[in-house]
Amino acid sequence: MNKELYFNIKDKYPNVRIIAVSKYTSDENIKELFSLGHKEFAENKVQDLLRKKEELSKEISWHFIGNLQKNKINHLIKTKPILWQSCTSFALAHEVDKRLDYKLDCLLQINSSCEDSKSGISTQQALDEYLKIQNECSNLNLIGIMCIGAIDEKYTQKSFEDCYKIYEEVKKYGAKICSMGMSSDYELAIKCGSNMIRLGSILFK
Ligand SMILES: *Cc1c(COP(=O)(O)O)cnc(C)c1O
Repeated sequence: MNKELYFNIKDKYPNVRIIAVSKYTSDENIKELFSLGHKEFAENKVQDLLRKKEELSKEISWHFIGNLQKNKINHLIKTKPILWQSCTSFALAHEVDKRLDYKLDCLLQINSSCEDSKSGISTQQALDEYLKIQNECSNLNLIGIMCIGAIDEKYTQKSFEDCYKIYEEVKKYGAKICSMGMSSDYELAIKCGSNMIRLGSILFK
């Protein structure tokens, strides 16, 4: 794993929370980063999250960042993630909320790039949907937004800026987390206001 880069990013951006996305890396690499003091990791498949939570250090805080199928909701709830970043709609939020027997922190995933391949709520609907989840899902603690930047570099910045505008809106309702930026675009995301970056390939290559 790329220790030097990890510590450089930590030094350069002390106010940005780094989430290590471990979906494509070995357990050995996770253990190594953990041994350096890093505690927050993310997975995009519920079954991987379940296994890693079971087998790796209990001190790791796990985030869930993947597409959640309905038949995996109970499993996700069982893993008690520290943050569910990929809530894509009120309908899904409601399904999770009614089965929860504890308070789960979550983010609304916004599709600001308007790319069909990405899930998430459109920027136009985001504020309404955010407030609806906040008002009607009592077991969910909605504390911000997440977005994946547009893959087409011409639009990446615009997609982050659009998301940040929504973040500014929802801050009035208590939002604290703006999760934007991955290996290829984290610096741009931070410039656009991100306070949480999700790094996979760049850390573990
Ligand atoms: C895989 C993934 C990441 C990390 O991607 P890298 O390009 O490897 O840094 C971040 N966010 C989400 C939602 C992902 O699925």
